[in-house]
Amino acid sequence: MKQTKSYIAKKVEEMKPSGIRRFFDLASGMKGVISLGVGEPDFVTSWSAREAAILSLEKGYTSYTANPGLLELRMEIAHYMKKRFHVPYEPKSEIIVTVGASQAIDIALRAILNPGEEVIVLEPSFVSYSPLVSLAGGVPIAVQTLKENDFKVLPQQLEEVITSNTKAIMICSPNNPTGSTLSKEELKAVAEIAKKHDLLVISDEIYAELCYDEEYTSMASIEGMRDRTILISGFSKGFAMTGWRLGFVCAEEGLIQAMLKIHQYSLMCAPTMAQYAGLEALQSGSDDVEEMKKSYRRRRNFIVDSLNEMGLTCHNPGGAFYAFPSIVSTGYTSEEFAEKLLIEEKVAVVPGNVFGESGEGHIRCSYATSLEQLQEAMKRIKRFVHNHACNVVK
Ligand code: PLP
Repeated sequence: MKQTKSYIAKKVEEMKPSGIRRFFDLASGMKGVISLGVGEPDFVTSWSAREAAILSLEKGYTSYTANPGLLELRMEIAHYMKKRFHVPYEPKSEIIVTVGASQAIDIALRAILNPGEEVIVLEPSFVSYSPLVSLAGGVPIAVQTLKENDFKVLPQQLEEVITSNTKAIMICSPNNPTGSTLSKEELKAVAEIAKKHDLLVISDEIYAELCYDEEYTSMASIEGMRDRTILISGFSKGFAMTGWRLGFVCAEEGLIQAMLKIHQYSLMCAPTMAQYAGLEALQSGSDDVEEMKKSYRRRRNFIVDSLNEMGLTCHNPGGAFYAFPSIVSTGYTSEEFAEKLLIEEKVAVVPGNVFGESGEGHIRCSYATSLEQLQEAMKRIKRFVHNHACNVVK
């Protein structure tokens, strides 16, 4: 169609396409590529969850569920959140089952933001946060977390950017892309600031099950924080269910009811068979989760040691399945490094700059791939670094 004027909304036109996609597209046309690019488990969803979905179809459960999701599932989520993370939620009024954590983030932002209100986004960050804040009419305010602080935010960094327009702080622990995981004390420091300035915290806890060194602490479990936290979670990562598109959001009733209005008009409900699979995953999935976690921990230890040994310094990520080494010593920018590595050694990683300014000088390597593949990938990266060495420790 020849266009005499743009039909596209300005805020969408101004939006940059995800930098991760560009690398996937480049890699997808090449043979023999080892991908450390994708942020999804290499495990298949547990058989019992798959079977529950099949059974739901056999029984003919093919209609809509209640807008906030099957009550049985919401009750199971409430039980899980209480038992596993020590946060009580009322299943009938404080939980919505969503189409992935992605939709939960979207409706949370749309429910709370008036035009021009600000949300603090800690970079490097998951690529969706800032575009979704803008789409909701808000203004993302980036705060750069730094390598020397293990990519953890310092309280004074938050204080410096808070204005009378600030509505919320967005946190993600364990973090995508850095794997950094905030301790209880570090969460408390963020919580104190939220309380002092009367802010909400949108806490993306999608990697809560994948925490390797310490007991996981939910932001909502910190004293005084349950009612100012919008807790985002889901089944994609911990339960290896990315393709089912199933997530959930928990918050105080007023916030949830506001989100529910958007959810019921835009989505109606999450897919029914996925909800049955999620129910089964919660009821019987803890052994599977433990096994996956053990495997990720082994891989994390291997990849972090290998990267450090070849001179790409990497902090020890406490959770998720990403290593975020520095490539500064090679003299390349993160885009140059990722592109050359892909072309010369057929290893796909994501350049750190796509996650924000302070991600420059780093690459994201997902270790959600088999140990054999990781070993081969590390061999190739080592050879690449050796061939391009400027001042790397060999
Ligand atoms: N939040 C973070 C931090 C993520 O890394 C991802 C996916 O990569 C999501 C949310 C989206 O998860 P879902 O598949 O549940 O939409």
